[in-house]
Amino acid sequence: MQEEALITCPSCRESLDVLLDMSVPAQDYIEDCQVCCRPMRITYSSEDGVLTGIEVQQDT
Ligand SMILES: [Zn+2]
Repeated sequence: MQEEALITCPSCRESLDVLLDMSVPAQDYIEDCQVCCRPMRITYSSEDGVLTGIEVQQDT
Protein backbone atom coordinates (compact mmCIF):
# COMPACT_ATOMS: atom_id res chain seq x y z
CA MET A 1 0.00 0.00 0.00
CA GLN A 2 1.63 3.21 -1.15
CA GLU A 3 0.56 6.81 -1.24
CA GLU A 4 1.98 9.65 -3.25
CA ALA A 5 2.77 12.87 -1.40
CA LEU A 6 3.97 16.26 -2.54
CA ILE A 7 6.91 17.61 -0.55
CA THR A 8 9.20 20.60 -0.83
CA CYS A 9 12.95 20.10 -0.90
CA PRO A 10 14.54 21.96 2.05
CA SER A 11 17.63 22.72 -0.04
CA CYS A 12 16.32 23.97 -3.40
CA ARG A 13 12.61 24.51 -2.58
CA GLU A 14 11.46 22.47 -5.54
CA SER A 15 8.24 20.48 -5.23
CA LEU A 16 8.75 16.75 -5.45
CA ASP A 17 6.52 13.69 -5.54
CA VAL A 18 7.47 10.86 -3.21
CA LEU A 19 5.93 7.42 -2.75
CA LEU A 20 5.29 6.50 0.88
CA ASP A 21 4.69 3.06 2.30
CA MET A 22 1.40 3.27 4.22
CA SER A 23 1.69 -0.21 5.74
CA VAL A 24 3.92 1.09 8.55
CA PRO A 25 2.62 3.50 11.24
CA ALA A 26 5.69 5.75 11.17
CA GLN A 27 8.94 5.90 9.29
CA ASP A 28 11.86 8.17 8.56
CA TYR A 29 14.36 7.75 5.81
CA ILE A 30 16.89 9.63 3.75
CA GLU A 31 16.20 10.37 0.12
CA ASP A 32 18.21 12.37 -2.39
CA CYS A 33 16.38 15.27 -4.01
CA GLN A 34 15.62 14.55 -7.67
CA VAL A 35 16.50 18.15 -8.56
CA CYS A 36 19.54 19.20 -6.51
CA CYS A 37 20.68 15.69 -5.41
CA ARG A 38 21.13 16.79 -1.79
CA PRO A 39 19.97 14.33 0.87
CA MET A 40 16.83 15.11 2.84
CA ARG A 41 15.25 13.34 5.78
CA ILE A 42 11.61 12.46 5.31
CA THR A 43 9.60 11.66 8.44
CA TYR A 44 5.98 10.60 8.18
CA SER A 45 3.22 8.85 10.06
CA SER A 46 0.09 7.05 8.93
CA GLU A 47 -3.05 5.66 10.45
CA ASP A 48 -5.20 2.97 8.81
CA GLY A 49 -3.38 3.54 5.53
CA VAL A 50 -3.95 7.31 5.54
CA LEU A 51 -1.09 9.77 5.76
CA THR A 52 -1.45 11.79 8.99
CA GLY A 53 1.74 13.82 8.95
CA ILE A 54 4.87 14.41 6.92
CA GLU A 55 7.97 16.47 7.63
CA VAL A 56 11.01 17.09 5.50
CA GLN A 57 14.32 18.26 6.92
CA GLN A 58 17.66 18.96 5.41
CA ASP A 59 20.05 16.16 6.28
CA THR A 60 23.40 17.47 7.43
ZN1 LIG B 1 16.50 19.88 -3.93
